[in-house]
Amino acid sequence: MLLFTPGPTPVPQNVRNAMSDETMHHRTPEFEAIFKKARKHLFKLFNTDEVIMIASSGTGAMEAAVVNLCKNTLLNINSGKFGERFGKIAKAHGLKNVEIKNEWDTPVSVEDIVAAVKANNDIDAIAVQISESAGGLRHPVEEIAEAVKKINPNIMIIADGITAVGVERIDVTNIDAILAGSQKALMLPPGLAIIGLSNTAIEKIGEGEGYYFNLATEIKKQRQNTTAYTAATTLIIGLLEVLETIEKQGGFGVLYCNTARRAKATRAALEAIGLYSYPKVPALSMTTIDDKDASKIRSALKEEYGVNVAGGQDHLKGKIFRINQMGLIETYESVWVVNAIELILHRLGRLEYAGIASKVYNEVYFKTALTKKEI
Ligand SMILES: *Cc1c(COP(=O)(O)O)cnc(C)c1O
Repeated sequence: MLLFTPGPTPVPQNVRNAMSDETMHHRTPEFEAIFKKARKHLFKLFNTDEVIMIASSGTGAMEAAVVNLCKNTLLNINSGKFGERFGKIAKAHGLKNVEIKNEWDTPVSVEDIVAAVKANNDIDAIAVQISESAGGLRHPVEEIAEAVKKINPNIMIIADGITAVGVERIDVTNIDAILAGSQKALMLPPGLAIIGLSNTAIEKIGEGEGYYFNLATEIKKQRQNTTAYTAATTLIIGLLEVLETIEKQGGFGVLYCNTARRAKATRAALEAIGLYSYPKVPALSMTTIDDKDASKIRSALKEEYGVNVAGGQDHLKGKIFRINQMGLIETYESVWVVNAIELILHRLGRLEYAGIASKVYNEVYFKTALTKKEI
């Protein structure tokens, strides 16, 4: 089965092999050496002043960022399930919460955020997805962060990069916390969350908040290449293997470039056979298609072509499907997927099969390869 869901993503064979060794004790020089190397790679990936790994799924990183960086009112951006989650986390911790809500295909506007911030002096943190996975859209996080810092540099910008870190180069100049999760662009099993922090964030964290997710405790330990509690040793061993693999294949620049080409080629291929891209501003992490036959296409992909793509949640259940673009994906796999969709549309009587999708995919993908090496 080809796993083409935007998380979890497939774990490469060499990474699975690296994780198949005997369990290592976390308080040993051997593991600390691995931790140190993984940390070094993460600084390159995140470009932030500090990077912290915690044993939890991505939501743990969301909760850690909110409790440690928001003391008063959180402004969260709800253009989908993950954005909504930030508001729920704030409420669960007794924080005040203001929300800007949009349709799941609509990114938040910088103007709306600026207006909300100006209208409420209690807002001390803003939480927003870089890529909102519910509808596959891209929020203008860098522009938001820049505009907000001009109004008040003490407002913390929490950027959920769980489907963005490892997908594209992100300008973290005005971002205070940027979050990643192992099972998305990092091609690992679920269970490891990573938080990049600015020095401003570290100042605000002070003594930290909470217990397990107290970031002050973790920062202190992780600077010594260890963790406050038992580290997710196996996942960190896998993480190092993933990051070394990316480096061997040309580094993050090449990965970002290939991801962008794949996203562009997939979208062009599917539009060429009459399908529509759902979000107004699509993220590069996934291709989201809005279609009345979404359920049929999705189950035919699985049953007849061995491809697992994701559907929609809540009100978008049965209305969209989402194809992953994150990680190291072979071109022949992507071509197989778009060709299979064209065959399915033929069978549904919507078009006459002509091999258009795979042709367009190859054209778009390889033409960019001939003209541009890196972005
Ligand atoms: C997957 C995801 C999360 C975290 O989900 P977990 O299931 O807790 O790992 C958060 N935000 C976004 C944008 C995601 O795609």
